[in-house]
Amino acid sequence: MQLAEEFYCYVWQGMGNNCNSCLFTNVIRGERPHVLVDPGHIANEMGEPCFDYLVKAIEGNGFKADDIGLVINTHSHPDHCQANEVLVTRNQAVVTLSKEEEEFRTTLGAGMYSMLAMKPPRFAPLFYLKEGTLDLGAKNKISLRVFLTPGHSPGSVCLYWQENRILITGDVVFYGSIGRTDFPGGSLSQLRGSIDRLAQLDVECLVSGHSTEMGSIIKGKLDVERNFQSVKLFF
Ligand SMILES: [Zn+2]
Repeated sequence: MQLAEEFYCYVWQGMGNNCNSCLFTNVIRGERPHVLVDPGHIANEMGEPCFDYLVKAIEGNGFKADDIGLVINTHSHPDHCQANEVLVTRNQAVVTLSKEEEEFRTTLGAGMYSMLAMKPPRFAPLFYLKEGTLDLGAKNKISLRVFLTPGHSPGSVCLYWQENRILITGDVVFYGSIGRTDFPGGSLSQLRGSIDRLAQLDVECLVSGHSTEMGSIIKGKLDVERNFQSVKLFF
């Protein structure tokens, strides 16, 4: 689904678990100009070929997954970054996530893969996402604000694209719900603080990491505000 000029969201449509992915097209100079946020699973617990579906959907919009040169992970859970390895191997894509999340992934977080009987993906971030501005592409084509938003995972980040008032929340906040805090490294009080910060932003379109029975993408400033008010009741 196209949400802005050169910005697409791929809402997971399968039966089993996988995340939603976002694609910024033609951002970076060079041969592989696209930027993918959260590639998701290669295959999920039901054996669905999640990454193949994503590749096909990207092709359906007229782009090639082979042209993805940068992968941003909102956090390191298997359903968000298992397919990093494919993009690193196939495209020599660069990967980035927060330093806090990389420390988690390589210690306590590794247990999440064994819990799911999955092999952790092999990748090494080239640089870390930090709280503040992340300028991508020539002449800072896309300027994102990175928010460190722990709670669901210790180094979760959310990405705010001020120009289009789009907020990518990963698993911090969903349509009518919040991220789980019962995984290793989770913290309900941290999640509350993170959501309070996000609720201050001027958001026209909220893109979350998973769909709920309410939906996946929240459109319209009023509905986004209403969502933040209603999820506060979880705390
Ligand atoms: Zn998660």
